[in-house]
Amino acid sequence: MTDSIPPVRVRYAPSPTGIPHIGNIRTALFNWLLARNTNGQFIVRFEDTDRSRYDARSERAIFESLEWLGLDWDEGPDTGGPHAPYVQSERKQTYIDAAERLVNSGHAYYDDTTPEQLQELRERQRAAKQPPRYDGRGRHRSPEEIEESRQAGLPITIRLKVPDHGTVSFEDAVKGKISFELKEIDDFVILKSDQMPTYHLAHIVDDQAMGITHVIRADEWISSTPRHLLIHEALSIELPIYVHVPLILGKDRSKLSKRHGATSALEYRDQGYLPDAVFNFVALLGWSPGDDTEVMSRDEIVRRFSIDRINDSPAIFDNGKLEWMNGVYIRNMSVDALVGELLPFMERPESDGGLPDSVTRPIDRDYLKQLIPLVHERLKLLTEGTETLGFFFADNVNPAVEDLPGKKMDADMTERALDAALELCRGVAPFEPEHLETEYRALAENIEMKPGQLFSPIRVAITGKSFAPPLFDTMSAIGQDRCAERIEKAIHILRSAAITGS
Ligand code: GLU
Repeated sequence: MTDSIPPVRVRYAPSPTGIPHIGNIRTALFNWLLARNTNGQFIVRFEDTDRSRYDARSERAIFESLEWLGLDWDEGPDTGGPHAPYVQSERKQTYIDAAERLVNSGHAYYDDTTPEQLQELRERQRAAKQPPRYDGRGRHRSPEEIEESRQAGLPITIRLKVPDHGTVSFEDAVKGKISFELKEIDDFVILKSDQMPTYHLAHIVDDQAMGITHVIRADEWISSTPRHLLIHEALSIELPIYVHVPLILGKDRSKLSKRHGATSALEYRDQGYLPDAVFNFVALLGWSPGDDTEVMSRDEIVRRFSIDRINDSPAIFDNGKLEWMNGVYIRNMSVDALVGELLPFMERPESDGGLPDSVTRPIDRDYLKQLIPLVHERLKLLTEGTETLGFFFADNVNPAVEDLPGKKMDADMTERALDAALELCRGVAPFEPEHLETEYRALAENIEMKPGQLFSPIRVAITGKSFAPPLFDTMSAIGQDRCAERIEKAIHILRSAAITGS
């Protein structure tokens, strides 16, 4: 049980090459959970040594995703800490030193093979139907030859010497013992010709310098782990505990991609998901508390999180479940809190999913508060506020003529219903839900219609929709004059359609 493990030092080490996707966020969350569960430290480190893929927007997005989900870090690129800097491109010299140390100890060597020569080698291997791999030719270059190449301006790399037989293995905290045949692994580059380290070298040097105890990362890194074991051994440093977390698949069991919905945490934010719901949902992607509990507070998840309950098999990302969970979190919110969350979405420009631009901003907070009980149970996404509540705020609605008649009603009957509804609307007092209901039920009886038949065209006239919150609460919230105007307008719509014969 993790309760008994001492405080860990873990890191989230994204490469700033794009917007963090849900898999990255899951890695960050699991690291954060273990840190908080054990009273340890959660460290953020930018792994930006691949300058060709560097994307400056990505750094902002990494911070924003973590902040949005409430994953605070103890040390990092912006906050600093005892092992600063936390950005690999600013730690270049440490990697150069480590690589040179490995050359001096005989574990690595300088290689002047040119990209053209490597290309030619690959082509020959392809033609011979052999797997593409570096053939170790640099092992035989003398220091003088290397120096000559250096003088000639040729690219020089440093490669690790990998034994050509034998096995390496490690104990993964999730997957158990994993072994690899060394003959499958070629002498790989640890320092590139631009003096930047490869990921393999850099993360190990940093993990050691930063005192990382557990490496929690996606299981796509398992195939690189034998390389990492060799570097640890060559540098005589202790292995961290490896925790490779399972793949995330879509419901159709294919690799998670755009097809399955949003892929970045920030997209979820923009689509109206609550950070607490996404936090809870992502925590369950590959971990479970050991029983069927699904909806859990942050504190509960922190308390119950343990490595031994991380699953070995792929996690399935079910968007429907996330939406359901978001609905649960919305229902559990106070009206005040929900108003605070809904407002920014409803106040977006109309073209961006907000209320019609004709509705004055800021939106009337108290009015919104009064409306929440009518829709609280039904909302699943914060973006739904506009659609579900828009007609309360709009100056008018535009019901489609074909939506006005209720079941088994023709145009005449619909008009009769609306005429009677209008008359009552103008005179009824007080304009309160219960009283309205009594009066409108009595009206249905008077004009010999079923209540549903009378209510249906009224609902469409007032809201523009066939499905809306309870009718009389809605009418009362919209107010007597505006209701009368809307019913009148619907009658006009019906009449003009009758005249034009459509
Ligand atoms: N920079 C790597 C990535 O972005 C980190 C892998 C690791 O956690 O070791 O996936």
